[in-house]
Formats: sequence, C-alpha cells, structure tokens
Amino acid sequence: METPYFLINKQELDLNVTKLKNALSKFWSNSIIGYSYKTNSLPWIIEYFKNQNCFAEVVSDDEYSLAKQICCDKSKIIYNGPIKTKETFIEALQNGCIVNIDSKREIEWLKSLDKNQSFSIGLRVNFDLEDVCYGQTACGSEGGRFGFCLENGEFEKALKTTKSYGFEISGIHLHTSSKTRSVEIYKAIAQVAVKIKKLYNLNLKFVDIGGGFFGGLDNKPQFNDYLQAVSEIMKQAFDADETTLIVEPGMSLIGSPISYVTSVTDVKDTVRNRFVITDGSRINIDPLMRKSSYFYRCDFASESNSVLKKQVICGFTCMENDRFFVAENCNELKVGDKIIFNKVGAYTMCLSPLFIKYFPPVYLDDNGKKVLLRKRWTVTEYIAGSDIGEN
Ligand SMILES: *Cc1c(COP(=O)(O)O)cnc(C)c1O
Repeated sequence: METPYFLINKQELDLNVTKLKNALSKFWSNSIIGYSYKTNSLPWIIEYFKNQNCFAEVVSDDEYSLAKQICCDKSKIIYNGPIKTKETFIEALQNGCIVNIDSKREIEWLKSLDKNQSFSIGLRVNFDLEDVCYGQTACGSEGGRFGFCLENGEFEKALKTTKSYGFEISGIHLHTSSKTRSVEIYKAIAQVAVKIKKLYNLNLKFVDIGGGFFGGLDNKPQFNDYLQAVSEIMKQAFDADETTLIVEPGMSLIGSPISYVTSVTDVKDTVRNRFVITDGSRINIDPLMRKSSYFYRCDFASESNSVLKKQVICGFTCMENDRFFVAENCNELKVGDKIIFNKVGAYTMCLSPLFIKYFPPVYLDDNGKKVLLRKRWTVTEYIAGSDIGEN
C-alpha cells in the first residue's frame, strides 16, 4: 500500500465501544451515547457509530445535514453548539431530536414552535469549573464561553424566558473541555447537575455530561472510573429509571484505533542536523501544531545497526515547522523505512487543511484484512463545485 495513509483498527474500535457500553450499563442503565461528529466524521466512522446504536452529536447545520443523511432515524441526533441555523434548529426539535440551547437567540427561536407539542429541549450550562478543578480547564482563569452562566443568574434567566414562551426544558447539557480529562472534572459536572436539579426543582428527562474522556489508554482513567464517580453523585438527586444519562464521547472512542503510516523519502545532512524526510506531514496528525510528542514506532526495511545521536523527523510540506520529533540515540532511519504514528484518530482527519497535498487515503484493518474506506483525494475532489472561469 502506498504511503501515507490512515489505518483504522476495527477490533480496537470495537473494544473501545464495548468498554463504554459495559460501563454505562453497569453504572447508569438508562443512557445514550452521542458520538461527537466533529472529532472524526469520516463517513464510514459515522455509519459505524450509527450501527452501534449511537446518536449523532452534531454542532453545526452542516453536521446536522450529514447526520440526517446517515441516520435512518432522524430523531437520533443531539444538536449542540452556537452555530445552529434557525431553520435546522426548528426542524430538529420537530423531528424529535435533542437540542441543547447555547445562546439567547435560540431561546427566541422557540417562539416559532407549537406550544402544545412537547420537545426535547436542553439548556447548556456554563459553570465555573476552574474554581473547583483549579488548573485543569481548557481556558483557565479566562473561563469557557459556552452555555448560560449558572453563577451570575444567566442560567436562571434563560430558564424563565423559556418558560415564559411556554416550554419546559427536558434536560441540561454540561460538556466542558479540560486539559486533564480527570475523573474530578466529571465529579464536578455531576455535582452541578445535582445542584441545578435541587435549586430549580426541575424534572429532568436527561442529563448530558458531554465528552472529553480518556479512552484506549491503559495508564489513564477508564470509562468505569468516570461513570462510577458520576453515578455515585447523580444518585443523590436522580433516578436512573427517570433520567437518561447522555455521554458525548469523541476522542475516547476514535482516538486510539487510528494510525498514520508514513515512509522515509529522503535523508539529508547539513552542518547542523540529520534530517529524515517523510511523505507524511504534521498537518495530518497535528493540524494545530501543538503536540509535543507522539505514539510512534519505526519499521526498518533492513537491519539498522548504527545508532545516531540525533535525527530530526520531518514532514513533506514547505513549512520549516513541519517537524514531527527529534529521535535521540535511535537506529539510523533510511529511505524506505516506515514511521507509524499511533492513536491519531481524533481532531486530525476533520481538522487538516488541504495544504500542498490533498487528503490521504483511509483503510480499515479488520482482523488483518485491509479495506479501502476512502480514496485519496485528488484534484477532482479539490475543484468540485468551483467555478474555474472561462479559459
Ligand atoms: C467536542 C465535543 C465533544 C467531544 O469531545 P471529545 O474530547 O472528543 O470527547 C462532545 N460534546 C461537545 C458539545 C463537544 O463540543
């Protein structure tokens, strides 16, 4: 197979899903998994999660349309985020989707709905997680911007406005992104859910704790650890028979089963370094250029005996910062050797720019059998829909 390419390990993906389902049935029988489309919405992947009975968790009108095309059941969609359109917001509610309101304009949109019908409306809660989990949240002292602030009364106002328009909320949405993905984060989330239920005496059909979990890493918290902690706290105020627990995993399911396979195309020495050039690029597995290390393995085409003090492993783009890592005291890499980056399934394929080269192909490894899931993008896909003028 020509490199570079992404490779999805089906058995590892199956295992991640099984572990999550087992943890949910053990700790909160009444639950829904909403697979986070934005984490990786390769068509085969979203179809896979649909077949696993997962809902589609979408955060834009485009993702919503994609979910409608993939899901036979148009109500199995959780519609989140600030960039919904009014048209899709209304349609999703009428189709029976779970729609979590993120902004004041969405509350206004409720006015177009029939008050005699019931809808699955959730309110996204903005709460000061940094205060309880110091140093752990994504935005630190600047705080997150999604949802309605619990501490300053905005959430209560949103509740009241919704009510004044004739609607009761069915649930609350508490997704928050953290740097640590620790169990403490989810304990804090569960505590906020308990607090809100008691404070406003709400009858909640669902509590959505969002995504952001670790998965597929033995040395990190497991689904059992998160869900045991959440269920212990939630049980103080909720009954599992009456309130559905929603989780919205992305990274924890699709991160670990995907690898990116590259080959060494050239090796060059300068006065300052030994550069190993590959046919892969950081833009495909670290599009935000933030990772400081990778899970990787080298496949040497022939026995490599000499150990080199320093080799700088680089990508194919014309950007000097397209350097994956520095291999120190490693065997000498030569043209034709492979470097395989593991656990690169989350926020990669859907976040890469179309810079210099188009998307690489994606294969499935199903018990050793390789299947092509998406052909490499070519000029045809790149110019599709473009007006190239009259030449
Ligand atoms: C991004 C996101 C998720 C998924 O997060 P992961 O870290 O990939 O698990 C879930 N819910 C919402 C609302 C999100 O924005």
